[in-house]
Amino acid sequence: MADAGSNLIVALDYDSAEAALDLAKRLDPATVRLKVGKQLFTLAGPDMVRSLQNLGFDIFLDLKFHDIPTTVAKAVKAAAELGVWMVNVHASGGSRMMRAAREALNDLSRPPLLVGVTVLTSMDRDDLAELGCDDEPIDRVCQLAALAESAGLDGVVCSAAEATVLSTRQRDGFLLVTPGIRLAGDEAGDQRRIVTPERAVAGGATHLVVGRSITGSDDPAKTAADIRASLDAYASG
Ligand code: C5P
Repeated sequence: MADAGSNLIVALDYDSAEAALDLAKRLDPATVRLKVGKQLFTLAGPDMVRSLQNLGFDIFLDLKFHDIPTTVAKAVKAAAELGVWMVNVHASGGSRMMRAAREALNDLSRPPLLVGVTVLTSMDRDDLAELGCDDEPIDRVCQLAALAESAGLDGVVCSAAEATVLSTRQRDGFLLVTPGIRLAGDEAGDQRRIVTPERAVAGGATHLVVGRSITGSDDPAKTAADIRASLDAYASG
């Protein structure tokens, strides 16, 4: 699928369908895309995705599939049938799992973009060490991104700081989708590896996922519009 739309993806991490739809109706599908993650999908399911699509939005279905290859392939295919714009799997599920997901989409005329989650942006070196991984996050991210590219994925999810490194290592056009974005003065919350929107794009991120900086602000629609404007100003030099 061509990716001519917005590079700003708003994470609709709400605990009710009404709250999610309320914000969506105040946003412009020409300037932002929407991410439906585990919380909202578990609450409101495919009907929520369809409702948001009916409002004109491209949807990133962020369910981070991680299972045996057959199951992940079928899940990704089901996401494609729902007509989502982007879907993701955990790259740590391995190359056989990622290839199975890729192959499930190969025959489709308009497949969703398929990206791999590298290391969650909430994790730091100590969290990796606890899992028996003695790498720095950046090394683990590079390893998983290379694996994702060789399995035919369209890109990865990584922190903005890592996007800077990956943009010099991965093929041209490889998508670098970066959560962990915070506006100046925001709380970091549970995120550890965080960057502002302009710095993320300057560093090589192709798409930004912004959740709490928008949904937790006093005027979420205005905050989204402000970020959009700052990114457009940055892009036009
Ligand atoms: O609120 P915040 O901006 O931190 O939201 C980030 C969003 O991106 C959440 O929906 C989270 O699930 C998602 N995400 C992430 N780290 C990843 C992949 C996705 O934070 N590696």
